[in-house]
Amino acid sequence: MTGYEMVIGLEVHIELKTETKIFCGCSTAFGGEPNTQCCPVCMGLPGALPVLNEKAVDYTVMAGLATHCQIAPLSKMDRKNYFYPDLPKAYQISQYDLPLCSGGWLDITVEGEKRRVGITRIHLEEDAGKLVHRPQGDTLCDYNRCGVPLIEVVSEPDLRSGEEAKAYLQKLRAVMRYLGISDCRMEEGSLRCDVNLSVRKKGGEALGVRTEMKNLNSFQSVTRAIEAEFRRQTGLLEQGEAIVQETRRFNQGSGKTSSLRRKENADDYRYFPDPDLPPIFLPEEKVAELRVSLPTLPEEWAETFRREYGLSPQEGEALAGERELAELFAAAAPQCKNARTLAGLLLGEGLRRMEEGRGIPASPAHLAALADLLEREKINAGAAKKLMGELCCRDADPAALAEEQGLWQQDDRTALAEAVAKALRENPKSLADYRSGRAKAAGQLMGAAMAATKGLANPRLLRQILEEVLGNSEV
Ligand code: ADP
Ligand code: MG
Ligand code: ZN
Repeated sequence: MTGYEMVIGLEVHIELKTETKIFCGCSTAFGGEPNTQCCPVCMGLPGALPVLNEKAVDYTVMAGLATHCQIAPLSKMDRKNYFYPDLPKAYQISQYDLPLCSGGWLDITVEGEKRRVGITRIHLEEDAGKLVHRPQGDTLCDYNRCGVPLIEVVSEPDLRSGEEAKAYLQKLRAVMRYLGISDCRMEEGSLRCDVNLSVRKKGGEALGVRTEMKNLNSFQSVTRAIEAEFRRQTGLLEQGEAIVQETRRFNQGSGKTSSLRRKENADDYRYFPDPDLPPIFLPEEKVAELRVSLPTLPEEWAETFRREYGLSPQEGEALAGERELAELFAAAAPQCKNARTLAGLLLGEGLRRMEEGRGIPASPAHLAALADLLEREKINAGAAKKLMGELCCRDADPAALAEEQGLWQQDDRTALAEAVAKALRENPKSLADYRSGRAKAAGQLMGAAMAATKGLANPRLLRQILEEVLGNSEV
């Protein structure tokens, strides 16, 4: 396998967060009673006429602008004909040869290296319904999702590993969430990914035959499917066999991919311009207006955080990954002594909260005050973490909380020496281990001494006292 490299291009479908569907007034809300959010238009009943949702076009253009695409001044919607039970119209309205956006890129960083991933196109289309396969063997159709606006973001075959594919997806997701055009919840299907993968000899120029794995719904299944398919394809090539261009399914349970169907070509779909929808004209002023409306994007935040506050690239990118977190940090950092201490606190519990879609109620001033308490050694890291957890649930003055809960750091040498003595007394085995050269035992003793202060000790001082005592062979 070492002589081969993988070549990956991703097609990512992202549901747009418009109130109503792309061609009718039906609600796009997720999780409704099946078939309660449909009308003749989204079900494609004869005679029903679609009207394009302008917001969906705006959102698509915003996605294109944020990913450095060209925006087409003239675009159109096309019919893609195919029959599938989740598509009652028997055609999907999509865009074929005049997508709204094309020729963009996103930068990703993997293992400290920056790489640029080309974006071939971003087009607007409608989602299909959902099939529910029941255990008793039958299948139910829920058409609520028919006509929910989607963008499809097609990347160039520029990715070379599962890690890169994941980094690209995360970046794309962060940008779309910043724009506020989608929740990008993979578990709810508002972001879905198709992986196209081929292999070739390392250093080769020509692309190999690709297979496509459809609708992967977590970062983990994307990277696992990539590994499995790379192994399968290299195995075939090693045996002198050919790769068949086809659509494959990734099975979570077995961790393997299996053939689903031969891949269709574009001409199988009999694309033609949708006769019910007029072309889309985008005057320059309109595009300029949307460009001005874009928020500061993650890349720019990460760069500012590195430059202004000396954060590492990883810290900067992690904070910039969630818009609310970035904005909170940007507001709090100037108010505290050491912004890196604040970054460390926010990247723990804070990041988890944001990723779960819950906000942080604490004010920037209170977050800055918490970072300062830690920085000035008024509280230790354990207490800071605890208080950070509380500030994630309510806005309060961290000093008042520390007072109320008795979380001030213990700096009293006598008390700390007592804690060390107690730890040694109660852990003779760790002490013996340490004496016989097992350095790890010192960590156990440190933990025991810390516990003896209810976790409140000044860790620097406590370690110093412990080392002094251990260095004294009388003990
Ligand atoms: P289709 O609709 O047939 O899947 P698209 O143009 O929408 O075609 O998407 C093709 C995707 O496959 C793109 O992301 C592209 O980068 C990728 N791709 C094309 N050829 C290869 C190849 N030989 N190996 C890996 N990926 C490829
Ligand atoms: Mg495809
Ligand atoms: Zn409808």
